[in-house]
Amino acid sequence: MVVLTGVDKHFGDLHVLQGIDLTVSRGEVVVVIGPSGSGKSTLCRTINRLETIDSGTITIDGAPLPEEGRELARLRADVGMVFQSFNLFAHKTVLENVTLGPIKAKGTKPAQAREQAMALLERVGVANQADKLPAQLSGGQQQRVAIARALAMSPKVMLFDEPTSALDPEMINEVLDVMVSLAREGMTMIVVTHEMGFARKAAHRVVFMDGGQIVEEATPETFFTAPRSDRARDFLSKIL
Ligand code: ADP
Ligand code: MG
Repeated sequence: MVVLTGVDKHFGDLHVLQGIDLTVSRGEVVVVIGPSGSGKSTLCRTINRLETIDSGTITIDGAPLPEEGRELARLRADVGMVFQSFNLFAHKTVLENVTLGPIKAKGTKPAQAREQAMALLERVGVANQADKLPAQLSGGQQQRVAIARALAMSPKVMLFDEPTSALDPEMINEVLDVMVSLAREGMTMIVVTHEMGFARKAAHRVVFMDGGQIVEEATPETFFTAPRSDRARDFLSKIL
């Protein structure tokens, strides 16, 4: 579903992604973990082309990432993204946040978009907040709306970039629970998170990044109990 081959990216002198090879199969859940500054967010942002790459290739469901225009809009629909900061439209209601994309980008009829949005809001447990503005919701509720908004585009893959790290502790699980159920329903997911509970419950594979490289890949069980590299051991000793 997602294939990166030899992906390189620089920010000026900084070689932020160094020959990244990564294949994520349909229905696979990959957790990306690694120290701050290792390139995890940049990796996510290249996959939906918020960032360009210098060399290498990225394909989504067999198709190379488009350069621009109409094709790029379709890519953005195929690749849903949920960020650390919820990024909801502040002056639109919860329901409007979820219907806007399908109406504008996919030409869905408003009535149908609303019906689908309510079903998604139901699924993430915030249907009763549909007419409120984002600021009237808790952080955990807002992040669940952000997930519903991404799902409304019927993406082929969902990217999550530290979706719970801006949340108060008591709200983390309500967001992770939604992500676990999404994983169990077979969504292809790339999740940057240090939440080991999520990795253990839902991930098929953990990818450890350091210094712009994928240093190690393993099952969650193996990675957390018996990391192979010194860099992974050192990182885990700091977060555990
Ligand atoms: P992570 O998500 O693993 O913390 P990032 O991908 O955000 O890492 O950043 C990797 C490195 O690239 C960091 O050193 C960061 O400062 C740098 N970086 C990220 N975005 C930019 C940018 N737009 N311009 C210049 N440097 C950037
Ligand atoms: Mg980051």
